[in-house]
Amino acid sequence: MRASRPADAREVARILALELEIQGDGPALDRDLLQQILRAHAPKPSPLQEFYLQIRDCQKCPLGRTRTHFVFGVGNEKAEIMFVGEAPGADEDLQGEPFVGRAGQLLNRMLAEVGLRREEVYIANVLKCRPPGNRDPLAEEVAQCLPYLRRQIEIIRPKLLVCLGRIAAQALLDVLTPLNRLRGPVLEFHGIPMLVTYHPAAVLRTPSLYDAAISDLRRAVELHRQILEREAAGMPAVQTEVLPEQERRRKTKGDGSVQAMQETLPLDE
Ligand code: SF4
Repeated sequence: MRASRPADAREVARILALELEIQGDGPALDRDLLQQILRAHAPKPSPLQEFYLQIRDCQKCPLGRTRTHFVFGVGNEKAEIMFVGEAPGADEDLQGEPFVGRAGQLLNRMLAEVGLRREEVYIANVLKCRPPGNRDPLAEEVAQCLPYLRRQIEIIRPKLLVCLGRIAAQALLDVLTPLNRLRGPVLEFHGIPMLVTYHPAAVLRTPSLYDAAISDLRRAVELHRQILEREAAGMPAVQTEVLPEQERRRKTKGDGSVQAMQETLPLDE
């Protein structure tokens, strides 16, 4: 079987490193040539990696100055189910990866309980930098950072979105609807069905929410199965609901509402 490009690059690097070792400081292979060869064989970044490289130094809001790490997202770039949380916490800020602290460990356990693996889904937050003291994101921070999440969704194009908590759902849908009304219906973000469940941190604070959260995740798995089944059979997409608040805002023009968002994102083309 033909070796992949990354393997080629590693092999070239290995041979050149050996060459340099044998030759010592002598005139082995030209270092510029080595760089050229490595560049030519380096794997091309994926669209998501390219996007990460574009935005990783972002300083659009004050959180850029206080973060330890920019927390982009993690998981399968071709994930069919994408989970969206609120913002990095202390552990995430230190490690540069979403959902790695206690809430993340709980999320992993919950995913496993419904037959999902963290590696097969994609996980990102609305904010890429940690709000100090884990406070709720401010509206201005969400406004600055949300386009990044929207672009991630656009690149990944998941078949199902699962919002972990009120803040992620409210930010994506541009509503103030409370969690008890966001949880339950199959909502929609630019043609992508969306479910909302509790944030794992809320489940940690209130363990009695665990069963309900697991039931939501089971529903997500089942909904994903239905989506695939309908696609394969050429059937219409799953039925989704529009929240009354969305409906009201859709009728309002030029207010940055759902309608305005649909005009700026080609997600539903
Ligand atoms: S939170 Fe978002 S907008 Fe603010 S600095 Fe970080 S990446 Fe940029």
